[in-house]
Amino acid sequence: MKKYIYLCFAFLLAGQSFAQKRPKLVVGIVVDQMRYDYLYRFQNKYSNGGFKRLLNTGYSFEQCHINYMPTFTAPGHACIYTGTTPSINGIVANDWYERSINDTMYCVYDSNVTTIGSANKKAGKMSPNNLYTTTMTDELRMATNKQGKVISVCIKDRGSILPGGHHPNGAYWFDSDNGAFITSTYYTSSLPHWVTDFNNIHLPETLINKTWDTYFPIKTYTESTADDVVYEAPLSKKEEKPVFPHKLRLIRKDGYGTLLTTPYGNTLLKEFALQALKQEDLGKDSITDFLAISFSSTDYVGHHFGTFSIELEDTYIRLDRDIEEILNKLDAQVGKGNYLVFLTADHGAAHNVQYLKDRNMPAGLFNDSALKDTLKTYLGYMNNEYEKWDFFYDNQQIYLTINGNTLSKNAPLPPAMYPFMDRLLTMEGVDKVYTGSMMSEPYTSNAPGSLIQKGYRFERCGDIIINLKPGWMEMPRKTGTTHGSPYDYDTHIPFLLMGWGIKQGQSTENVNMIDIAPTISSLIKIPNPSGCVGKAVYR
Ligand SMILES: [Zn+2]
Repeated sequence: MKKYIYLCFAFLLAGQSFAQKRPKLVVGIVVDQMRYDYLYRFQNKYSNGGFKRLLNTGYSFEQCHINYMPTFTAPGHACIYTGTTPSINGIVANDWYERSINDTMYCVYDSNVTTIGSANKKAGKMSPNNLYTTTMTDELRMATNKQGKVISVCIKDRGSILPGGHHPNGAYWFDSDNGAFITSTYYTSSLPHWVTDFNNIHLPETLINKTWDTYFPIKTYTESTADDVVYEAPLSKKEEKPVFPHKLRLIRKDGYGTLLTTPYGNTLLKEFALQALKQEDLGKDSITDFLAISFSSTDYVGHHFGTFSIELEDTYIRLDRDIEEILNKLDAQVGKGNYLVFLTADHGAAHNVQYLKDRNMPAGLFNDSALKDTLKTYLGYMNNEYEKWDFFYDNQQIYLTINGNTLSKNAPLPPAMYPFMDRLLTMEGVDKVYTGSMMSEPYTSNAPGSLIQKGYRFERCGDIIINLKPGWMEMPRKTGTTHGSPYDYDTHIPFLLMGWGIKQGQSTENVNMIDIAPTISSLIKIPNPSGCVGKAVYR
């Protein structure tokens, strides 16, 4: 009898551990500006332990898209973690014009807080206060009654703050003036010892003394254009040509900014993330923790050198090794099968305009100064002694002001603006023009209008929204590239799952970025974020 009771007890225990309802740790990896095709284009140079391990042992959604515009960093990170679009979570761009204060606003700016960890007071005036909804990290904190830890790390403030949500145990980003990881008084009154210790080893100083040469012999980079091409600009004014080897110490600008436009910015973040994993004891007990990691140097390198540069290819080859190291450390600390990893991107990128033109592809640079000059002329006609018309232009949106105040919601455009709207449509590269009042009409199902509506909130968006033709972009220079459009090259992102509860496989079903948060929430059995409109897609 006694033996039988012991046996029952043993079964009960086995049953319990078998039915463990959550992983010990969730690791979210966002790669800034990672196009879906980079998973495959550089595959013959990837290791077996990084991107290929995620693909070969995990599950890949091969058709994951962003379903709003603009496809920028802040809206991307917010959408991944909130499961909803800017129209609901409020993060409509990196910077916008906030109507209530008649002034510009940075997505994570907060005047009420300040820096913890460096003398740069501005770099820490940041918090998630502009984010209207909860994140999956917020929901995990509440679901575990604050026992599950959430740590978020990124070089960019917005890439750390938005994934971390409203109540993380820590959110850290890099102050490139001082070469230190910092946070703000929103989160804490002092840096944890391990962050101070990390800052004190001065890794950025070691990295900026490196010479960036290719990981493999340069002649093997057959997936990219030649090294010295007109699509690229030198890394700094002190560099003669945009070619390898890039001697960082010689071409360094003030501070550590130069480092970020090299793969070593990712290496720096990887080292910091590994310290967070170890020092915060993530995944050590049975209550689920969350480590949010966002790699930014892929975006800086992409903007500077473009999608077909050897520099970009080399950055992915090295990031692949950084990811391999992270996965190996997770195996050692948390154990294979005890953690869940997802990898995605905040947006993709277009190819360089001249690169496209040289291959007879439709593309062009939009002349925004011509647009602003034309608008100034038109508003000049409308000025009188009582009304002074002016405007603010950003993100291909025009915010009109009369005597410094923006227009009221749903007000149709004044008829005097109609000729200007007609003129806009004749400008080279313009696809369609929308008005703010059109944005509050019932949602259209047709792209790009549907994507623009889902990216629009009146209090933070313009009165006139311009959409450019595919391949057209607005950029300060001709070299490198950018993103932001509602087109496939900017919206198609990787979405990979691996580890706890995940079987190997892939799907070509159309899913959206808004589906990532409810998919993770459903896997780890927690509520969806408050504004979530996506669906769980892993079956
Ligand atoms: Zn970018």
